[in-house]
Amino acid sequence: MIEGKTCLITGSTSGIGKEIAIGLAKMKANVILVGRNKAKCQATTEEIWRNASISTNKNRVSYLLADLSSQASIRQLANEFLDSYESLDILVNNAGVFLSRRFTTVDNIEYTFAVNHLAPFLLTNLLFERIKASSPSRIITTSSVAHRGAYINFDNLQFERGRYNGVEAYKQSKLANILFTKELARRSGGSGVTSNCFHPGGVRTNLVQSNPWYYRLIWAIINPFLVSPKKGADTAIYLASSSKVAEISGKYFVNRKPVRPSELADDHDTAARLWKISEELTE
Ligand code: NAD
Repeated sequence: MIEGKTCLITGSTSGIGKEIAIGLAKMKANVILVGRNKAKCQATTEEIWRNASISTNKNRVSYLLADLSSQASIRQLANEFLDSYESLDILVNNAGVFLSRRFTTVDNIEYTFAVNHLAPFLLTNLLFERIKASSPSRIITTSSVAHRGAYINFDNLQFERGRYNGVEAYKQSKLANILFTKELARRSGGSGVTSNCFHPGGVRTNLVQSNPWYYRLIWAIINPFLVSPKKGADTAIYLASSSKVAEISGKYFVNRKPVRPSELADDHDTAARLWKISEELTE
């Protein structure tokens, strides 16, 4: 089913993304990693060759470099992809950050909003015609249960005013992932492209590593209750490969099952408004 399909996976040199890449490579898909660091991309590519027992046709796993906090870099990534690959069957928007302090990107956008929401938005739109031309094709975005209780603060979307709250910024970005998934599904209805997102569970990854010690301490304390990155990747691999979800679009999945997200994540007006603002911020 997925053998020979071309899959582009962001955030795939560590954590959940790396396990998605390994899982799809084992199913004989053509996997293209996306990462910022060339040495890490090369090392991960070789690790996947070993893990997926790829001794011949090593071109089946390759990588492209991009810093998803930079819109110029995202545009370059899309152009490189379009120049190098004829089809795109599966796009997995997985890269993400959690930051306890407010940073801005080279485009002067709040970092969490830029990487977690605007990057998938821009990359997907830049690649959409190729994805459509490759249909039936699938777009999968890594969201989180953290979207629950969140709202999109349209009056202070990038936490420019008041005290920055990294948890709220993260929750908002993960709600944005679901709103984006659903709006994309509405816009691409009938095109043969499906758009779904998922919560991977609480997963033992590097997500909080760049934050102060007390965040890492909390992560260490809850560590025994977290699942492995391999388990965290399971629903994404299912969404990418199973015939059971071939016709399903616009859904939020947990443990391979479509689950109702928060009421706000289902709100069409909020999704349409976020889409319009995202267009303006990525012009
Ligand atoms: P991780 O830190 O191991 O993976 C995140 C990946 O994103 C890394 O490979 C990192 O290099 C990449 N990335 C971050 N900023 C980037 C940038 N500017 N340019 C390019 N790549 C960049 O953590 P993870 O837990 O595997 O996170 C993957 C996804 O899972 C994220 O979207 C996260 O929000 C989501 N998620 C994680 C958990 C969890 O418990 N770990 C729970 C729910 C959702």
